[in-house]
Amino acid sequence: MMERSKLGQRESEASSSNETALNGLLDGMEKIPKWNGAPKEMPKGEKPTSKSITRAPCPSVMESWREERTRSVEDNEMSLPSIIAAYTTILRGLGEDPERQGLLKTPYRAATAMQFFTKGYQEKIVDVLNDAIFDEDHDEMVIVKDIDMFSMCEHHLVPIFGKVHIGYLPNKRVLGLSKLARIVEIYSRRLQVQERLTKQIAVAITEALQPAGVGVVVEATHMCMVMRGVQKMNSKTVTSTMLGVFREDPKTRDEFLTLIRS
Ligand SMILES: [Zn+2]
Repeated sequence: MMERSKLGQRESEASSSNETALNGLLDGMEKIPKWNGAPKEMPKGEKPTSKSITRAPCPSVMESWREERTRSVEDNEMSLPSIIAAYTTILRGLGEDPERQGLLKTPYRAATAMQFFTKGYQEKIVDVLNDAIFDEDHDEMVIVKDIDMFSMCEHHLVPIFGKVHIGYLPNKRVLGLSKLARIVEIYSRRLQVQERLTKQIAVAITEALQPAGVGVVVEATHMCMVMRGVQKMNSKTVTSTMLGVFREDPKTRDEFLTLIRS
C-alpha cells in the first residue's frame, strides 16, 4: 500500500481515486444524515452502487452538506464521562495505575484532546462556503500550497500530519483563499485515511465551485508507520486526486505539480 502511494506513482493513484469522485461521492456522507446523535466512527466501507452515486450537482450536494455535522458541543459534554472512563480502562489495561498522581487527570486530558483532534465532526463544509464564493472572471490557475494538516489515522488512532497542496482552474467562480485551508481543517480533524482525505478535499472544491479542474496533493507522515518501524523515519506518503482538466490535460497537471514544488 505504501509503495502504491509513493512519489512517481501519483498518476495511477490519481486515476484510481477519480471515478467515484467525479460522480460527486463524498465518502461516508451518504450515511451520515441517517445517524441519530451519539459519537460514532467515520462510516466507511460501504460503496454505493453506480446508481446511488449519480446525483444532480449543486443543490442536492449542498443538501447533504447541511446534514453533515455529526457531533455537537452538547454531544461532547454528554459523551465526555464515558470517554474518560474508557481511557481509565485503557491505562489499567496497559498495566498502569490510573490512581497514581501523574495519571490522575490523564483520562480527562486524553478525552478532551481526542475530542479536539476530531472536531471536524462538529463542522460543516457548507458553513465555510457561505459568503465565500465569488463570481470572478479569473481563468488562471489558483494554487495554495503547504497547508498544514493534522489528522488521526482511523486504523490506529495516532497522528497523520503533513502538507496539503491545492490547485484549481476557476470557471467563473472562486473561493476565498483562506477557505481552502478551512476545508482541509474540517476533513483532517476526523478519523481518516490519507486517500479519502485527499479525495474529499478535491470533491468539496469541485462541488462548491464547479471549476474546470481541481488538483489536490497530500504529503504526510503516518506515526503508526514511523513509530512501529515499518517505514524509515523520513519517508512520506503522497496521495493525489486530479479532477477535470487536471486529470485530462497533462500540461495543466504538470503546471500544477511544478508550481507546488517550486
Ligand atoms: Zn495507522
